[in-house]
Amino acid sequence: MTDVQLLLHIDGHDESASDGATIDLTSPATGARLGTMAHATAADVDRAVAAGRRAFDDQRWRGQAPRDRARVLNAAARLLSERVDEYARLETEQIGRPIREMRAQLRRLPEWLEFFAAVAQTERGVVPDIGREHLNVVRRVPLGVAGLITPWNHPLLITMKKVAAALAAGNSLVIKPSELGPMVPLRLAALLEDAGVPAGVVNVVTGLGATTGRALSEHPGLNKLDVTGGTETGRVIAANAGRHLIPVTAELGGKAPVIIFDDVDLDRAVSGALFASFIATGQTCVQGARVLVQESMYDAFAAAFTKRTAALQLGDPADEATQIGPLVSAAQLAKVADAVEHAEREGATIAAGGRRPSGQAYAAGHFYEPTILTGVRPEHAIWRDEVFGPVAVLVPFTDEADAIRQANDADFGLAGSVWTRDISRALRVTEALDIGILWVNDHHRIDPASPWGGMKDSGIGSENAIEAFHAYTQAKSVLIATSEKAPDWFGTTDLIRYS
Ligand code: NAD
Repeated sequence: MTDVQLLLHIDGHDESASDGATIDLTSPATGARLGTMAHATAADVDRAVAAGRRAFDDQRWRGQAPRDRARVLNAAARLLSERVDEYARLETEQIGRPIREMRAQLRRLPEWLEFFAAVAQTERGVVPDIGREHLNVVRRVPLGVAGLITPWNHPLLITMKKVAAALAAGNSLVIKPSELGPMVPLRLAALLEDAGVPAGVVNVVTGLGATTGRALSEHPGLNKLDVTGGTETGRVIAANAGRHLIPVTAELGGKAPVIIFDDVDLDRAVSGALFASFIATGQTCVQGARVLVQESMYDAFAAAFTKRTAALQLGDPADEATQIGPLVSAAQLAKVADAVEHAEREGATIAAGGRRPSGQAYAAGHFYEPTILTGVRPEHAIWRDEVFGPVAVLVPFTDEADAIRQANDADFGLAGSVWTRDISRALRVTEALDIGILWVNDHHRIDPASPWGGMKDSGIGSENAIEAFHAYTQAKSVLIATSEKAPDWFGTTDLIRYS
């Protein structure tokens, strides 16, 4: 990519920020300048919300029959399939995630458009039985203009999860992608218009969280806020939603446990933990950050896990052989390095990684070796705080109760996995965990049909599935009197009959 100039997308037009301000984009792998993006002002955000409002009010999208909206979403899915390889290259260039992973992730994204196209067409209202004198018709109607605030770690996946549900339900959108990953979310807006979504329905404002993001989340013209990001960001945005009394979906941080019982085959357990801990260079909300291993297999597991972690292939994320790319930014690198140093000072031992790789190939990028820490205690910061990088804490547990106690010892409750061949134990343990997304003998699996949302400090509400569609709608209840007798409230003493 050479010197892109990313613009805002408002009411179907690409435009600069009203004051002309831009922000530089740089490659996390080489430090090279990639180009600029427009830095939207509060006035630009205001225009984007107004465009979304006009599109909602004149019914150009929500007024279409569900089957027509579905046809457009299916057309968008086909276009996306054709453009996946190009988008994967762009995302790899911008966020540094290895191309083999980026391509695998993006290839699945048309499924979100197809799933929510199907939901739009098959959703039914309900007719609750409230007695013979009234017919109650309850339909789901779209909310209005939604503000979508997304992170950099899966730029298109996370935007897509929100966009597909919101559009299927008939809403208008203003998207504020992360300042570190705006390129492909912007392309998505153009793609949706190519597929037939009317101009003004999907607007994108790029910029920083503290400026553009803040202007969007404080905007009084929104009907919903939907954020994926850090827990502190989520608290601020949810508070703004509270001030305006609008619903909020918040997908926030995590510290996922990977619980490995000693009846699991060692190789399977090790490859599962590697997948959990180091996919996306550990920069994922459901990263296996705490690997809990039953003490009877702990030593064998630790040896094999450490060996395979040290063998992971770091390098140029555009190279097909690369397994671990750079971290997304200098700030993220500093955060990860600081967290590991702090853990060491508190008494943890570095069993693998724990440093920047040496060599010219890594000098200009934000590389950090995949890291395993042992000897971590519950009072250590690394046990509790989200690092959001390739750092896994490895700890032993004695029995089922101890595993559950340790796994639940967290402020977060986003995701976790349980590895065992004993189905009854898997059911007992998953039941006992205060966690919203759980896998048994797997990790990281996601599907548009399967709800995705955390407990505790990991957020509010769910993405994916019928839950996300419903969260972009409101129930509208119409009660129709079917009795021939005209009610006369003040002409009778028998009020019970009419109330
Ligand atoms: P972040 O909180 O820094 O930023 C997320 C988005 O919020 C960005 O677009 C940012 O510009 C914006 N923002 C920041 N401050 C804001 C403010 N005050 N007002 C309005 N908008 C603001 O998060 P990030 O570094 O981009 O992403 C990493 C975080 O996201 C991690 O904590 C991770 O766990 C979480 N995450 C959660 C999920 C999930 O599904 N639960 C998925 C991916 C990432």
